[in-house]
Amino acid sequence: MKKDELTKFRDLLIKEREKVEEDMRRQENTSLSKSQREFAGDLSGYGFHMADAGTDTYNREFAGNMITAEQKVLFEIDEALLRMEDRNYGVCQNCRKKVSNVRLKAVPYARLCITCKKEMEGKK
Ligand SMILES: [Zn+2]
Repeated sequence: MKKDELTKFRDLLIKEREKVEEDMRRQENTSLSKSQREFAGDLSGYGFHMADAGTDTYNREFAGNMITAEQKVLFEIDEALLRMEDRNYGVCQNCRKKVSNVRLKAVPYARLCITCKKEMEGKK
């Protein structure tokens, strides 16, 4: 890959990382205010709160999963930046062919070319 292309994708990766980190911070704030609301709910009508309890647990677990998914993306972004240092960026980790620029623009931290990705998803 040409140097100016690499620089472009590096910018994309860094912007993506900032976006994900921003999302994670926002989610932390949301779950914090949510538990404060739950605490207030405990003080008022006990009966109603019991009915909602299941949903609250579900939402909290869901938010937890989201953070895990974002941490995974952060990891993938860091890995992609490391691959840039090793000059392996944009190379499919499975078949060693070049990953298309179209795919890299959509998913700048992609490890696999679209063919291998489809193949892996088909195996699941
Ligand atoms: Zn491949």
